[in-house]
Amino acid sequence: MAHPTGNRELIRAINSSHVLNAIKTYGPIGRADIARRTGLSPATVTSISAKLISQNLVLEKSAGDSSGGRPPILLVINPKGGYVVGIKLTETNAVCALTDLEATVIAKSSMILSGHNPDQVVDDLTKMVTSFIREQKISKKQLLGVGIGVAGIVDAEEGILRQSPIYGWENVPLRQMLQSKLNVPIYIENDVNTLTLTERWFGPGQGVDNFLTVTVGRGVGLGIVVNGQFYRGQNGGAGELGHTAIDPNGPLCACGKQGCLEAYVGDPGLVRAAQESVSKSIQSIDELLQLAQNGNSAAIKIFNQAGRILGIGVANLINLFNPKKIIISGEGTREGDFLFIPMKESIQQNTMPGLFDPKVVEIIPWGDDAWARGAAGLVLRELFESPIHKKTVAA
Ligand SMILES: [Zn+2]
Repeated sequence: MAHPTGNRELIRAINSSHVLNAIKTYGPIGRADIARRTGLSPATVTSISAKLISQNLVLEKSAGDSSGGRPPILLVINPKGGYVVGIKLTETNAVCALTDLEATVIAKSSMILSGHNPDQVVDDLTKMVTSFIREQKISKKQLLGVGIGVAGIVDAEEGILRQSPIYGWENVPLRQMLQSKLNVPIYIENDVNTLTLTERWFGPGQGVDNFLTVTVGRGVGLGIVVNGQFYRGQNGGAGELGHTAIDPNGPLCACGKQGCLEAYVGDPGLVRAAQESVSKSIQSIDELLQLAQNGNSAAIKIFNQAGRILGIGVANLINLFNPKKIIISGEGTREGDFLFIPMKESIQQNTMPGLFDPKVVEIIPWGDDAWARGAAGLVLRELFESPIHKKTVAA
């Protein structure tokens, strides 16, 4: 960042995000400390802090008087300085969450979509957000934006859903369509990427420069942070861990190929395997999990096999990326030890000697609002991340 563009507004925005980020990361923190940590001049920090305080994003706080002298004034993020709505779109539903500036979920709601064409979905979302914030007594002015997470290939910079497997859409300008109805900033991103970004800013990925997020559930997703920057590939399609090949002669995958990792580990693959080897009547992952919990050995075997295959996928990631951390989340984490004990054994067996470290993999508890909270983080990140990073790597 030796020579950012001559645009003063951009420089100010960059400096402002640095200051806000330092307050978020190290707060309560004094102005002199912020200057030291960011490398900005004390005068710049003072003027940016004043602006952030006037915007209600930051609060002043006295450090107490234990030293006897005049207590230093410290700065903290004001969690109630603004609000964000995050939405996770699924095939049938929109699930939304309202969070504060620290990504704490304050309220949640969901609705069944009335249809699958883009206009219907935009209408539904407009109604849902409008009534949701009204119920929560949040004004449009207090709403910093709406973040949307959805499966598929998303051009986050242009706000276009390039390809949606769940709706069959191609090149739908979802951001612009929704923004013109709601009149607040809208951000869209692939759902796994929203989780990854939120973990980076508010979860176990904070301060970790190389980490991956693997989600297990209906599909198997991957979010990638390398050298502190988000990686989404040339066309936004990076991270299709679920469609990496395990066996070219294996079961058919939803993508049309055979033997993808997801065909073994994703919910539909598990249900299909259960129909073949446990009982034809099994229709859902819940039924299969219930059987396993009741001690049905054929059901347990299915989860164990999925765990071993997932472990191969995770070991491949360790071999490729040598990450500091791999965070495993998603609805599939409720399968617990049935999945994760064989997964851990398989990771150890399939990781190249020297790269294996049992501390790398972290399985995090899953809440039903995690996707929507992830989508909210998409908006919050705008506050804390320097525009330079967003421009160069679209992170
Ligand atoms: Zn596939």
